[in-house]
Amino acid sequence: MIESLYQHYLRNPKISTDTRKIEEGSLFFALKGPNFDANKFADEALNKGAALCIVDDKSVVKDDRYFLVDDALVALQDLARHHRKQLTIPIIGLTGSNGKTTSKELLACVLRQKFNVFATKGNLNNHIGVALSMLSINSNHEIAVIEMGANFVGDIAFLCTISSPTHGYITNIGKAHLEGFGGIEGVIRGKSELYHHLIKHDGVVWINSTNEILSNMAKRFKNPLFYPKKGDYYHCEFISADPNVLFKAENGEEVQTNLIGSYNFENIATALCIGKYFDVPATDANKAIADYIPENNRSQVIKKGSNTIILDAYNANPTSMAKALENLNLINAENKVAILGDMKELGEDSEKEHKAIGDLLNEYQIKKVYLCGELIKATQQQADHAKHYQSVQELIDELKANPITNSTVLIKASRSIGLERVLEAF
Ligand code: ATP
Ligand code: MG
Repeated sequence: MIESLYQHYLRNPKISTDTRKIEEGSLFFALKGPNFDANKFADEALNKGAALCIVDDKSVVKDDRYFLVDDALVALQDLARHHRKQLTIPIIGLTGSNGKTTSKELLACVLRQKFNVFATKGNLNNHIGVALSMLSINSNHEIAVIEMGANFVGDIAFLCTISSPTHGYITNIGKAHLEGFGGIEGVIRGKSELYHHLIKHDGVVWINSTNEILSNMAKRFKNPLFYPKKGDYYHCEFISADPNVLFKAENGEEVQTNLIGSYNFENIATALCIGKYFDVPATDANKAIADYIPENNRSQVIKKGSNTIILDAYNANPTSMAKALENLNLINAENKVAILGDMKELGEDSEKEHKAIGDLLNEYQIKKVYLCGELIKATQQQADHAKHYQSVQELIDELKANPITNSTVLIKASRSIGLERVLEAF
C-alpha cells in the first residue's frame, strides 16, 4: 500500500489537508478532527484541484481518484516515514519547553548562508505537522531543521519515528505543558526522548550548558558538543538586553540583534553553535543573526506614543513568564509596567505557579501591575500592587480611562487570552 501511495507522491509531491487551501495537483489526506471528518470534503478537494484523495471511509469512494486506507492520518505518517528513509541529508530535530520556533528560525537563517535549507514552516510541530514537514523536503534540500512539540510523555519518541533526526538539541527544559506531562519529571522524561533516539542512532547532540538538567543528561553521551560557556565547543558572551540582545560572538565580533529578552541569547547561541559545526563562516552566521527580525507576537518591541511596549502575548508558562519578568527587571528604564494574563495548562500546579509570579513581581519591585483573567487572581493575592481585571475588555476600558505614559510595558499571557488586544488602549 505505502509503495503505491509513494508513487503517487513522487508524481505529485504536494500535500493538502484543508479544503480551503488545496494546492493544484496535491494529495489530499482526509483527516478527522474532534468536530469534522474530512472524508465528507473529498469531492470538494477534487473539484478544487487535488490529484488524489486519501480517504478512510469506503462510502465516499467513487473512482480511482480516491485512495482507500484504514486510517488517513496513519497513512500520512507512514508516507512521511517512507519518504524520510529515502533522504540522506542531515536532519536536525529539536524540541524543548521554550524557544523552539525562535531557535529554529535563527538556525535556518544561519545555515542558509551555506546550504539549501528546509525548516519547519511556522509552528507545524505535532503529529500532523512533523509528517507534513518531512514530506516538504525535496531532493534540492541539503539540510533540514524539524521542530517537534509535545504535550505528553511519548510524543517526541513518536515524532522521532517519523523524522528520524541524525542531529538534535533540546532548547531547554522548563515548566510548560505541566498538565499533560504530569509535572516537571514528566517534562524531563518526555523531552529526553529525543536524546534517546539520537543515542540509539549514533547521532550528534548539542547541549545548552547553561541548563543544569540538560547538562546532567549529557553525561550519557559519548561526545556531546556544549555551548555557550567558556571552554565549550562553541563559546559566546551575553553583553546586555536593553531591550534587544547584544552579545560577543566567538570570533570577537559584537553583534546587535533585533531580539528582546536575555532568554533569546540562548536561542542565538544554539544557532551559532550548530552553524559552526556545519562550517558556516562565523562572520556570515553573525550577520544572519543580526539581520533576523522576529515575527508574530513573539517578543516584539513596539513604540506607542511615549511608551515602549514589549509584546510577548504569543504564549506563557511559568518558565517563560519568569524569564520575561527577569528581562523587564534588567531593562534600564524609569517606569516599568507589567500587564500579565493567565498561564494555561498547568494542571494541579496552576495556583502555586501563579502565586510564584506574584513573588517575582514583588522581588523585582515592579510597581504597576495589571492582571487579567481567572487563573491569575492567585498572582494578585501575592503581589503587592497588582490590580485585577476579569476580561481583556475591562482592562482596555481601564487603560483608556487612565492611560499609561512614559513607561516600558511588558504584555504577556497564554495565547488563548488574546491579551495583545490591549494594544488598542495605547
Ligand atoms: P510553542 O510551544 O508554541 O511551539 P516555542 O517553544 O516554539 O513555543 P517560541 O515560539 O520560540 O517557543 O517562543 C515563545 C515564547 O517563549 C517567546 O515569546 C518567549 O516569551 C519565550 N522564550 C523563547 N525562548 C526562550 C528561552 N530560551 N527560554 C525561556 N523562554 C523563552
Ligand atoms: Mg513553536
